[in-house]
Amino acid sequence: MNVLIVEDDSALGHFLQQGLKLDGHAVAVVTDGEAALELAAKLRPELMILDLGLPRMDGIEVLAEMQEHFRSTSVLVLTGRAEMEERVKCLRLGADDVVMKPFSFHELRARLQALSRRRSQFEDTVLHFGDLAMDRAQRRVTQAGRDVELTATEFSLLESLMRRRGERVCSRAELLREVWRMPLGDNAIAARTSRMDTNIVEVYINYLRKKLGRNAVSSQNSSADCHSVIRTVRGEGYLLGALEDSDLKASAGSSPTVLTSIFALGGRASHA
Ligand code: CA
Repeated sequence: MNVLIVEDDSALGHFLQQGLKLDGHAVAVVTDGEAALELAAKLRPELMILDLGLPRMDGIEVLAEMQEHFRSTSVLVLTGRAEMEERVKCLRLGADDVVMKPFSFHELRARLQALSRRRSQFEDTVLHFGDLAMDRAQRRVTQAGRDVELTATEFSLLESLMRRRGERVCSRAELLREVWRMPLGDNAIAARTSRMDTNIVEVYINYLRKKLGRNAVSSQNSSADCHSVIRTVRGEGYLLGALEDSDLKASAGSSPTVLTSIFALGGRASHA
C-alpha cells in the first residue's frame, strides 16, 4: 500500500517508516497536520497513519478534513489519549481504526493487514478510466467498447494503473511489487537486479501501449470522448492519462505527430 505517516515524534515516525518499507509498502512521513493534508492531496495514499497530538493542525481536524476531501484513504489513528470518548470521537469522524500508544509494531502490522483486506473486499469489481473498462471478475478489458486481448501480466499491470485512476503516479517499484510480486527490502539484492527489473516494467508498459494504441487508430471515428494512454513521468513512473478526441482528429489528417509523440513516451524517446 501507499502509506502516509503523520507523526511529530520523528524517532517514532522513522521507526514506523523503516518497518513498513521492509513489509513492502511505499511510505512517506510528515510531522504536522498541514503538511499531512498537502501531501495527501498530492499522493492520494491508500492509508494514513495519523497521530492526534500534532503541531499546526490537530489530528482530529486532519481526520475531519480527510473525511471531507479524501474519503478513499483509510485512516488509522494513533493516540496516547486513553479516554474512551476520544476513541469513539475518532471512529465517529470516520477513522477506520484507533491504536493506543504505546503499541507494538506487530500489532500495528496486523491491524494494517486487516484494513488492507477490508479495502480489497470493497474495491470495485469493474474499474473505469476514460474509454477503458476493466471487469476484474471476468478478467475482461474493453476500450471504447472493443475487447482488448491482454496476457495475465499485461492485465495485472493495467489493473495497477487503473486502480490509481490517473490520480497518482505508479512507480516502477510499486509495479514490481504488485505485478511481479517482487519482494522489496533487501537493498543489496535490489541494487543488483534493479536495472533488469526496470527493463521488465518498460517492456510490458510498451506491450500495453501497443495494444491500447492499436485501438486508438481503429476507434478514431468512434463516439469516445477521449482515448486512454499510459504516460511516463520521468524519474517517477507511469500514470494513466487521456488523449483528447480533438488530438486524435488532428492527428488523423496529414501529420500523425501527436500520436507518434505520445505513444513514443517510455520508449527510446523517454531516455533522450
Ligand atoms: Ca504527537
